[in-house]
Amino acid sequence: MDKVSLLKLGLTEDEKNTFDNKKKVEFSKRLGSLLKVSRADAKNDECFICEKECSSFCNSHSVPKFCLQNISVAGKFYHSGNLVDMPMLDKDKGLGEAGTFKIICRDCDSSVFSDYENPEAYYQEGPTDKMLAQIAMKNHLKSISKRQLEIQLYKNIAKEFDNHEMMSHMEAIASTDLKEYIDEFKYAKKACQSKWDNNYYLSYFESIPYVFPIAFQNNIALVSDLEGGTINDIYNHLSDYVIKSVHICVFPLENHSVVMMFCRNGENRYSKFFKQFKKLSSEEKLKVINYIIFSYSEDYYFYKGIDQDILGNENLKDVAKTTSVSVADSPFADSLTAAKESYDLNKRDTIPNFLSETYKVV
Ligand SMILES: [Zn+2]
Repeated sequence: MDKVSLLKLGLTEDEKNTFDNKKKVEFSKRLGSLLKVSRADAKNDECFICEKECSSFCNSHSVPKFCLQNISVAGKFYHSGNLVDMPMLDKDKGLGEAGTFKIICRDCDSSVFSDYENPEAYYQEGPTDKMLAQIAMKNHLKSISKRQLEIQLYKNIAKEFDNHEMMSHMEAIASTDLKEYIDEFKYAKKACQSKWDNNYYLSYFESIPYVFPIAFQNNIALVSDLEGGTINDIYNHLSDYVIKSVHICVFPLENHSVVMMFCRNGENRYSKFFKQFKKLSSEEKLKVINYIIFSYSEDYYFYKGIDQDILGNENLKDVAKTTSVSVADSPFADSLTAAKESYDLNKRDTIPNFLSETYKVV
């Protein structure tokens, strides 16, 4: 969560390279205290799901704990911070602190997601619509929590650094995002209680007979499809243009893994991409998912026993970091073209495919 905010602050490659240790500590302290204040400011009074008053929020996991357990050694696993060299990130994370958010109460956390957070559910043919709704709801809650924090952070940065113009622009974008996530959350919440099973469209589900060394669960706004067509114009900030995301899960289980991709039913922005994706072989599909995770997301978890040499792979580091920085909002007209290039799914062969059998957890 912290890293996303950081990158949005626009720490450039040059700035990162010129960071000596003393500066790192200083920067880290200053940002740390701003984050702390912003976190307190962003704290809600009520649980986001049941809307009951709440003073002690649950530390909710985005990726289910039972998945993280399958890639941890003595309770520890690696976080994406191991690939993206940001100065203040911890090298590994414990089960309690990875990709968590705090906007719902304990009762909701332990009851609302119970269908999909049950490992037994993945020995069946595929997830139920209710499970997908729960996953979507969780993803949107995490995004909501992230945006709420960012909005406060931008406000506080504006004050602290006297940078009002840039920050109010960032804040406006985050607020638009927040509104969209809240709409999607409401849809998912309703779907969880719905008696109909057509709320989400499962485009891809596969059960793989070995254990993946990575765990992932999030919603991602894809920029372009496999043929270079635009899916989301992420630089279009007109208020009526809504960014649409797709949900992707990579769950390592005890002796096998599942991978899935879905979106809200009736959402046709992804139809072309889904059609192109369906034509790929099983191996290529996994490569695409693998590339999407590393290029678009900052929240994936690695098996603690993974070969360190692989994490040092230069192409992998590049894909993992250049793109996340390049998403920073830019006034240039050709941003979309540049983004399409850096997110080009046809570059999927340039990085190791962690979903292939080669890297399985043994
Ligand atoms: Zn609640």
